[in-house]
Amino acid sequence: MSAQPYFADLHIHSCLSPCGGEDMTPSNIVKKLKMLDVNIFSIADHNSCGNSKAFSIYAENEGLLFVPGIELQTTEEVHLLGYFPNIHTLEEFYENSVLPFLTPGKNDPETFGKQIIISQSGKVKDEDENLLSLSLMIELDELIERIRAIGGLAVPAHLDKNFSIISQLAFIPPYLKVDAFEIYMIDKLQKIKKEYLQNRKEPIISSSDAHHPHHLIKPKMRFWLKRLVLGEIFEAFKGSEDRRITISQTTYSKAKPSFSYGQGKAPWE
Ligand SMILES: [Zn+2]
Ligand SMILES: [Zn+2]
Repeated sequence: MSAQPYFADLHIHSCLSPCGGEDMTPSNIVKKLKMLDVNIFSIADHNSCGNSKAFSIYAENEGLLFVPGIELQTTEEVHLLGYFPNIHTLEEFYENSVLPFLTPGKNDPETFGKQIIISQSGKVKDEDENLLSLSLMIELDELIERIRAIGGLAVPAHLDKNFSIISQLAFIPPYLKVDAFEIYMIDKLQKIKKEYLQNRKEPIISSSDAHHPHHLIKPKMRFWLKRLVLGEIFEAFKGSEDRRITISQTTYSKAKPSFSYGQGKAPWE
């Protein structure tokens, strides 16, 4: 059986992110994603995963594939995405590699925004009192190692925006082993590839980085999978057999995928 395409958005902030809208609840997000034909999504809140379980249960009931994820801010102020094979592994990673490294202190909702933990039905359960908007006291290479050691995927976020490995370090250390790179504006990819990714073969992913429901857009990315299950997502990152990740310049209806990974060569190679 050959791999089939599924639309994916792997970088969405819920109401738990201090900068995320209070209306970024499971029902609002999933409703919008269904309108946009998204099959696969991840919630990547800043330095926390408190809403992941609620989203995963809601997603499963609605027939969408949920990928457990998080967006970390390292000591260097680099944003790093982590994706995990199940909720339990994400929560274990959070306990051991995020919680102990949070900047001490309490969130001030007036300054940074509310950090709302919700139930599956979207009811407010609690507020995360930790300081999620500041950097973790752990460096990029250490965090990458910890994500990968537990079976997760480490993906430096939005290379073409602030708080990226490029904006903060001005280069990508050649020894860094990561599983993909994320780009926000696909039309910046050729330039970034030429300047910073010359010898890298990792796949490129692209998502909405939505903080409000109106930021959710027609997906820029498709995963080519044999079945719509989480294990297949990890296989697509590896590019095994004909599984792969493609990203397109504009919406699916208007554009063909511009770049293809995991099989054959990308156009700039
Ligand atoms: Zn970010
Ligand atoms: Zn983000």
